[in-house]
Amino acid sequence: MPWNDELKTHFQDRCLLGEPLARHTTFQVGGGAESLVFPVTEEDWTWLLDFVRRHELPLTILGLGSNVIVNDSGLPGITASTRRMNGFAVSASHIEAQAGAVLDAVIARAVETGLAGMEKLSGIPGTVGGALWINAGAFGQETYERLVCFTALDRQGRLVRRSRAETRYGYRTVHGIDGLVFLSAQWDLAPGDPALLREARAATLQARADKQPLEYPSAGSVFKRPQGDFASRLIDSCGLKGLTVGRAQVSPKHAGFIVNLGGATARDVMALIAQVRAAVLAQTGVRLELEQIPLGFSQEAS
Ligand SMILES: Cc1cc2nc3c(=O)[nH]c(=O)nc-3n(C[C@H](O)[C@H](O)[C@H](O)COP(=O)(O)OP(=O)(O)OC[C@H]3O[C@@H](n4cnc5c(N)ncnc54)[C@H](O)[C@@H]3O)c2cc1C
Repeated sequence: MPWNDELKTHFQDRCLLGEPLARHTTFQVGGGAESLVFPVTEEDWTWLLDFVRRHELPLTILGLGSNVIVNDSGLPGITASTRRMNGFAVSASHIEAQAGAVLDAVIARAVETGLAGMEKLSGIPGTVGGALWINAGAFGQETYERLVCFTALDRQGRLVRRSRAETRYGYRTVHGIDGLVFLSAQWDLAPGDPALLREARAATLQARADKQPLEYPSAGSVFKRPQGDFASRLIDSCGLKGLTVGRAQVSPKHAGFIVNLGGATARDVMALIAQVRAAVLAQTGVRLELEQIPLGFSQEAS
């Protein structure tokens, strides 16, 4: 049986062939997935990992697609979205969430329950899995700060459970996770006053709306913060706000963002990134490192 027939037989209506990934990413750029599947259970994942090994197919995992740039030529092999494994529970001091749970929904519930420690992550538009991948953070709080542990599968389908103490992580970096498929995460939070937490959450959401070009599709900050500085400050100081390639633009509102003005291609975005990097390097000597993850490009792209 050809591999895509076998995939369809397993996932049925949870398997789409040739689906445009611009519909599944916040940047709204990029080509189609040769196949896009929506695993729900751990068994789906063990089946899928065995399947890609047997057929030697590339596998790309997608959460809400809010930190990726998908190539215009699309993604070969299998793309697996976690968005249908989105359950979570919040108890007296504890959060347990599946990897596809929307991080902001988890935080909203934690705030309502009076749990402190993640409220500053409000408004990050990704999943728990995407946050675990990069140690997402904002306003001084980070994903791993109060993490108890995560569970994942390795590419052989073996279950991995790793505590925070066993994980090496830093600013937008997590080591030793290549090839892992995150399944779930647990956090222990501190008790807090729900009214104050609600205020902190509202202030965080307001600060985002004030500073960030949320009215346009984007994938958030393009670059990591360089040591002792801000990418947005450097880009602004080089006079690059408003620089445009095709339909991609360095946001005039926040120089750390590239926005899709409507109809941008991944080629526009990558060309603009290259121009910004070259100008910042030439004018300031700082080599900006990508925070966003190019998918389906050759190694040199990142
Ligand atoms: C307007 C805007 C504001 C943002 N603000 C912030 C911010 O303040 N702080 C911040 O840190 N980020 C921010 N981001 C970036 C982004 O939201 C985060 O990086 C988020 O954690 C990505 O989650 P995701 O589910 O969208 O991941 P995706 O973009 O879908 O994937 C990102 C990476 O994670 C991997 N991945 C996702 N799920 C899994 C899984 N279950 N197992 C293994 N790998 C997985 C993917 O393969 C990919 O490599 C912002 C983005 C936007 C658009």
